[in-house]
Amino acid sequence: MREMRRKDRQVTDPERIREIIAACGCCRLGLCDGGRAYIVPLDFGFTEREGRYTFYFHSAGEGRKIDLIREAGWASFEMDTGHETVPDDVACEYTARYQCVMGGGPAALLETAEEKRAGLEAIMAHIAGAGLWDFDRVMLDRTQVIRLEAEELTCKVHP
Ligand SMILES: Cc1cc2nc3c(=O)[nH]c(=O)nc-3n(C[C@H](O)[C@H](O)[C@H](O)COP(=O)(O)OP(=O)(O)OC[C@H]3O[C@@H](n4cnc5c(N)ncnc54)[C@H](O)[C@@H]3O)c2cc1C
Repeated sequence: MREMRRKDRQVTDPERIREIIAACGCCRLGLCDGGRAYIVPLDFGFTEREGRYTFYFHSAGEGRKIDLIREAGWASFEMDTGHETVPDDVACEYTARYQCVMGGGPAALLETAEEKRAGLEAIMAHIAGAGLWDFDRVMLDRTQVIRLEAEELTCKVHP
């Protein structure tokens, strides 16, 4: 993986990375479509074990992203939060604060009801907080749940 040029902005503290991921509201998946990029914003959920992140997304059963994930089995991702413009009297001195996480990894469409339920629970935990959610079988059958295992993950903050 290519190294970050601005090492002073790279975040490696696992707790800080987790906080930033938890604060992000939307994750953009980057998919390859015949040599061209296709970027699609999605709500997401995640689990983390010893610094390894697994991201979950839900979707209708069909569509461009589903075709591309099925085809490539890989997705890149980006999420950010805290974007804020810092103005200045000089145009070139304008800057922006942000907190951002990027990476990529194998992406799969989950098949069993058990796997889908676990993915949807992670999404609900992220968007609605801890709780017990019920997912009925019919809904599980027609919902596509995507799992992305982040093999690459970097975090950059402009304070
Ligand atoms: C903040 C946010 C959160 C979202 N969360 C979810 C989610 O959790 N699950 C989910 O399934 N969808 C979500 N969406 C919608 C998502 O971005 C896609 O529109 C949707 O998933 C369909 O994607 P697809 O690849 O199947 O597109 P298709 O329906 O196959 O679309 C084909 C074409 O439509 C156009 N298109 C598709 N989506 C968009 C878009 N968002 N904006 C502009 N043009 C578009 C593109 O040109 C694309 O090539 C979210 C959108 C936003 C903005």
